Amino acid sequence: MSLSLRLDDDELSSCVACGLCLPHCPTFRATGEEALSPRGRIDAMRAVQWRGAPADDQFVEFMETCVQCRGCEPACPSGVPFGRLMEGTRDALASAGRTTPWWQRRALAVLGHHRMLLAGSTALAVAQRLRLVPRRVGLARLPIRRGPPVRPSASGTETAWLFTGCVMDAWMRPTHRAAASLLAAVDVAVEVPGAGAACCGALHTHAGLTDPARALAERVIAAMPGDAPIVVDSAGCGAALQDYGHLLGTDEARVFAARVTDVHSFVATRLDRLPPPARRFGPVVVQDPCHLRHVQRDHLAVRAVLAHVADPVELPDDGLCCGAGGAYSALQPELAGRIRARKLDVIERVTSATGATTVASANPGCAMHLRAAGLDVRHPVDLVAEAMGWDTT
Ligand code: SF4
Ligand code: SF4
Repeated sequence: MSLSLRLDDDELSSCVACGLCLPHCPTFRATGEEALSPRGRIDAMRAVQWRGAPADDQFVEFMETCVQCRGCEPACPSGVPFGRLMEGTRDALASAGRTTPWWQRRALAVLGHHRMLLAGSTALAVAQRLRLVPRRVGLARLPIRRGPPVRPSASGTETAWLFTGCVMDAWMRPTHRAAASLLAAVDVAVEVPGAGAACCGALHTHAGLTDPARALAERVIAAMPGDAPIVVDSAGCGAALQDYGHLLGTDEARVFAARVTDVHSFVATRLDRLPPPARRFGPVVVQDPCHLRHVQRDHLAVRAVLAHVADPVELPDDGLCCGAGGAYSALQPELAGRIRARKLDVIERVTSATGATTVASANPGCAMHLRAAGLDVRHPVDLVAEAMGWDTT
């Protein structure tokens, strides 16, 4: 079947096939297959867009196996906007009904309905306790109790919104409370958006569902008016919110996107207001979520914040993806497992050398994916909250 990908020809032609991105691509590293590298995928996109090659099952496989980690982008000397090319390709495939079947669309639609998501998440957690969820699904243990939602706090010399989103609020709500406590501790009043900010739409964009992603983005923008910064404690959500200017193509969206900042980046510039911790952790391994390191390119602030309560330990793998990739670990479990195995090897080497027992990750998807392999993975702000002695339960 021939298919118009509607990609920007200049962006598509910007790859000079140098191959410098290949070592940074988790699917190439796991398989050694050129077709599963950024260069190979761009070549396949060109064949479909420029030479009329069919968008056959093999083409779909090459595209669907991409984690969309964008580890290839910082490595690329030509500045190829690979994420944009992949999102455009996914949009064309989903629009043509080649990917993202009805059950995926239904599941993603739930993310915008927060009460329904919370109920579904609780039901899944109960099913896990009853051993009704097969282990091969690879889902880490979900919470049955998540405690009260984050409440706004009025006092502070400045004000910021705290974006709470969908899955993060369902599965890691104590982290939101820790982030709110951290903001309060650096003298920032916290505003919490209403139901309109239920979901950033990142997973919809990944799946090629651009129109639903746009609808969610418009709701999110309307839910956080004004000019206060928008602080995000999920790397994937933060990257999506920062891309709203491109997604919607409006000045309003561009102004909104410029207000978005990762919580570590926001707090790192105010660390002098944070009192000393009640206790310190020893060495803690830092796992960089791809959407913080390769997309937001703002991962160093995690070390600054974590250093307040622990000794950050680096992984010597240039931030190679762990294989979580939003819904990727559920949709491509075999390849996601092989990619994770490489990450686990590196973590094992580092923990053996340093004695660290905890991994810090600032993204819920990465945390759940690595926890499912048996690691103790904590969000950096949770570690700060515990070291400071704050109750976030
Ligand atoms: S986004 Fe990640 S998985 Fe996809 S081609 Fe780039 S490096 Fe490879
Ligand atoms: S995407 Fe960039 S780094 Fe990779 S082959 Fe093309 S030009 Fe080289």
